[in-house]
Amino acid sequence: MIITIGKAHDNDYVADDPQVSRHHARLVSESDGGWFIEDLASTNGTFVNDIQVIRKRVTKSDQIRLGTHYTLSLPALLKAGNDYSEEFAQLKTVYDRYIQEKVRIQSANQFKTRLLQSLPFALPGVIGVVVGFLGKGSPTLFGLSLLITIVAPTIGIYLGAKQAAKIPMQLQALANQFKIDYVCPKCGTFLGEIPWESLLNRKQCPVSSCKAKWAKEAGQ
Ligand SMILES: [Zn+2]
Repeated sequence: MIITIGKAHDNDYVADDPQVSRHHARLVSESDGGWFIEDLASTNGTFVNDIQVIRKRVTKSDQIRLGTHYTLSLPALLKAGNDYSEEFAQLKTVYDRYIQEKVRIQSANQFKTRLLQSLPFALPGVIGVVVGFLGKGSPTLFGLSLLITIVAPTIGIYLGAKQAAKIPMQLQALANQFKIDYVCPKCGTFLGEIPWESLLNRKQCPVSSCKAKWAKEAGQ
């Protein structure tokens, strides 16, 4: 990948300054992911940390200067070249967390729902044993145990249904947040429920006005 720098408007990064040559310098990516600044025989020279250079490896912390005063940084140059690979890389965590949370919500709620629905059915059995022990045919206790036998499962089914209804609500909230977070770092378009690795293979944003590069093209 090459990002051209200069006063002329056909450059990737246009530096409008009298000290800057029409085609002043260029930034070239290396296969290891590093960047080199190259002076293109400019009139006033290219400097890295105040030292004039012809070709020099640069990092984020270096100060690049064209002529005596026009300064620019590596991140600003990369944006001009549409390189959003670093921001895009962070979306992997967003996608992975979304999937993990989705599974967690579904399994946790399913467990609670089943528990609420099945426990009341076990309860009358226990009560029956206790009544059988203590009551010895007492009509009051028999009536009470009969009532619990009918009422407990009804409450259980009701609570279980309420618990089950929480799943779509929690999933909806999760999906809403995902739509805000899982977007193209440049144009903000939602990327859909597509695995991060699949998007990485596409290498750039499909929105025609955006074309942000999601993956570095090594060795160009
Ligand atoms: Zn985009």
